[in-house]
Amino acid sequence: MGALIGIDLDYAANLLEQGKLVAIPTETVYGLAANGLNTEAVSGIFAAKNRPTFDPLILHVGSVAQAKSLCIEWPEAAEKLATAFWPGPLTLVLPKANHIPDLVTADHPTVAVRMPNNAMSLALLQRLSFPLAAPSANPFGYVSPTNAQHVFDQLGERIDYILDGGPCAIGIESTIVSVDTHNRVTLLRLGGLDLEALSETIGHPLEESLSMHSNPQAPGQLDQHYSPGCAMIPFTNFPSNATHKEKNLAIGFLWFSENDRKQHAGPTIPIGAKNYVLSASGDDREAAMNLFGTLRQFDKDGCTQVYFTWAPEMGLGRAINDRLKRASANSTPH
Ligand code: AMP
Ligand code: MG
Repeated sequence: MGALIGIDLDYAANLLEQGKLVAIPTETVYGLAANGLNTEAVSGIFAAKNRPTFDPLILHVGSVAQAKSLCIEWPEAAEKLATAFWPGPLTLVLPKANHIPDLVTADHPTVAVRMPNNAMSLALLQRLSFPLAAPSANPFGYVSPTNAQHVFDQLGERIDYILDGGPCAIGIESTIVSVDTHNRVTLLRLGGLDLEALSETIGHPLEESLSMHSNPQAPGQLDQHYSPGCAMIPFTNFPSNATHKEKNLAIGFLWFSENDRKQHAGPTIPIGAKNYVLSASGDDREAAMNLFGTLRQFDKDGCTQVYFTWAPEMGLGRAINDRLKRASANSTPH
């Protein structure tokens, strides 16, 4: 049978009040939501995703006042960033209030909070008396879902309800920054809010803490993450003396733009290979929106190896490349 997909906010609210799991739409990706102040409900999220408990969750709020109630400090920089970008794809990591379960924050003294920019989920949050813990609604390590069907395909047997808010407008996870009591803002994860907009608001370039850790402060920092089933390989490693036909490998190509496809498509590209273009015109926002759905499509197509071109390192291109880097971390050409 599996989860129902629908738009019934009363039903969703009721399930969440009972401590159950509901998938919710946001402008970034679909979240797997539960009462973020209820340890038992939150443990259901970790179980459904097979998520290790060292990986903390983001608490989603319906107002700035609610966000403040989850932190013991609300520095001026947090106020500035929330005013500029909420609701929107920016997560703030701040000193946590005592009543937040340790499971939510993976025992860190900080909590991650965000107000999502999706009318349905905002309305849901505003009628609940608690914040929603909501990591991406996919099995741990896999590509995030950007529509209700993606959630159903993987978690449909593990949850009761999927609120359908249509396809995600941004399609890539939130940008995460920490804000300390001295108003220092540090980038923890690249995401749907571009760095140019962020540094303009804080008035100087961000400090970055994006090194790859195996025990990361932010899970998005794991070397390998956001990975489809197929091996993801930079196109620069595509063997020019390709023998893929003989090996009968199912090969795919992920081009950032139509320009990339035209430039590289040649006689060595196997006939019948899958070719997808993230944005015909090379627009970073359109490409971000299409990224995860396209990675899933390669798996559906039965591709075992996908060669990809990088995005230009600007705007959301940086976040796209970050996801491609992690998706390809353990892949090698065969
Ligand atoms: P997901 O919602 O699955 O994309 O992942 C949630 C992200 O929130 C994780 O990748 C972490 O990077 C981040 N996060 C949550 N809580 C904290 C925290 N207390 N400190 C740092 N990062 C956090
Ligand atoms: Mg995730």
